[in-house]
Amino acid sequence: KKSIRLILGDQLNLKHSWFEEKKDDVIYFMAEMKQETNYVKHHIQKVVAFFLSMRNFSETLEKQGHKVIYYNLDDERNQQDLVKNLKQIIKENNAKAFQYLLPDEFRLDKQLKDFCEELSIETNAVDTEHFYTQRKDVAKFFEGKKEMTMEYFYRDMRKKHEIMMLDDKKPEGGKWNFDKSNRKKWTGNPKIPPHKNFKKDVTKIINLLEQENIETIGRIEARNFSWPTSREECLKVLDYFCKKLLVYFGDYEDAMHTDEKFLFHSRLSFAMNTKMLSPKEIVGTTLDYYYEHKDEIDISQVEGFVRQILGWREFMRGIYWKEMPAYKQLNVLENTNKLPDFYWTGKTKMNCMSHAINQSLDEAHAHHIQRLMVTGNFALLTMVDPDEVDQWYLGVYIDAIEWVELTNTRGMSQFADGGIVATKPYVSSGSYINKMSNYCKSCHYSVSKKEGENACPFNNLYWNFLYKNQEKFKNNQRMGMMMNLLKKMNQETLQNHIQRSEEIIKNPDQF
Ligand code: FAD
Ligand code: SF4
Repeated sequence: KKSIRLILGDQLNLKHSWFEEKKDDVIYFMAEMKQETNYVKHHIQKVVAFFLSMRNFSETLEKQGHKVIYYNLDDERNQQDLVKNLKQIIKENNAKAFQYLLPDEFRLDKQLKDFCEELSIETNAVDTEHFYTQRKDVAKFFEGKKEMTMEYFYRDMRKKHEIMMLDDKKPEGGKWNFDKSNRKKWTGNPKIPPHKNFKKDVTKIINLLEQENIETIGRIEARNFSWPTSREECLKVLDYFCKKLLVYFGDYEDAMHTDEKFLFHSRLSFAMNTKMLSPKEIVGTTLDYYYEHKDEIDISQVEGFVRQILGWREFMRGIYWKEMPAYKQLNVLENTNKLPDFYWTGKTKMNCMSHAINQSLDEAHAHHIQRLMVTGNFALLTMVDPDEVDQWYLGVYIDAIEWVELTNTRGMSQFADGGIVATKPYVSSGSYINKMSNYCKSCHYSVSKKEGENACPFNNLYWNFLYKNQEKFKNNQRMGMMMNLLKKMNQETLQNHIQRSEEIIKNPDQF
């Protein structure tokens, strides 16, 4: 039966069982579409990386003998809309069946479900064979429980998949979690190997985007494109991570530094979110490397990495499928402020913000703590509308796809879900940033000051945020200690925090 099989841009899994057999009556369909480039303003490197990866994927399939129809963005046949393109392809090829891989985004899931309802031919959706879990597994795991604690899910995953487990069902190393040893500040040593850069020339795709008037954000060096855009390149990044970075991954996971953008982070999120690499092979390869080099690498480095992928990544996906579509509208703190303009330009005197934002604009990447405790922290402290915060995170990062962006941003970082993902808001004064980085040393503001023009803005905003949300946090036990300190605070000091915060919130771009 002649079939059309759709492959979306983040479904580049060459190991999928679809491709085990070559079938003459199956046509794979892929398309670069304005529907996808324009639903949010993306970073230019993100669009370039997606298109290049899709093109490489389609070429590989063709080389393997599969039939592929691929629409470039400027293909005459391209109607720039998924449904319109599909209707056309099905008609032109007189297809009798339509099959697709289950999308990870609610938006596309709905679009394809609705489309299939309209079709009179046979339709069928299959798993992407990428994740450890199915969409509803996390929801099932926490059924009947009051809180969804990631740690319990993670332990269950370790047991279920026999990852870093001893025979008697105890965790290797005697502990489930080495989080406490993942909090070192980096001060210049150990030396950080240069990050893997493929130095590709991507001028052609940049020109195509210009010619098609695709609006993007961020910066790009046309002849020095660093991201992996094929499975082979992704495997090289993984190999580099195991050999050069894993040894200190855990120790410096939360560290930030003015001279080092990536520290010991893997930069594998794009490879994984496009499915060029699977979480299972990343975890498997990393563990194999660790077991062969146990005398050189401490378990805490490896456990920290495995927890992010086996734990957090699957957990976030599960929350997304449990809570969508309502999740996208949540705003329990009722924040309504506008995102400061400097998020789009990097122009601010706050050194931590300037580094995190300029790095995001230059590289389409910032690591977890920069996203959470610098840019996310400031947005929450200044009570920015979570819709605006989402737009920025969904656009700016190379790895940003809604299922993982939304749960991290609206949930973990902005507490807009009221505690589904995180038990308390991730907010801090300047002291946390100072503890984990050297940003404060060269900042216009003084991290130790709480009053006056050069006081660190985070110091005022933190207390103002707690004050303004007193009612909302009164039953949150994890906030108890800070709320008590707030209650005991000298009134004049508190008023000063509130007044300066109001100035900052009114005019953030002056700071
Ligand atoms: P590493 O530090 O090397 O970690 C290894 C892998 O673990 C990552 O590649 C990623 O796949 C996974 N991982 C780590 N933390 C998380 C997490 N919290 N949720 C899911 N997976 C995780 N990650 C995305 O993939 N897409 C996003 O859009 C995204 N948005 C975020 C927004 C905010 C506000 C925050 C705080 C975090 C966000 N993250 C997102 C999680 C994390 O910041 C990135 O996965 C990580 O920085 C990617 O870089 P890396 O590959 O070098 O990660
Ligand atoms: Fe950021 Fe404040 Fe430190 Fe400046 S002093 S880098 S604003 S935390």
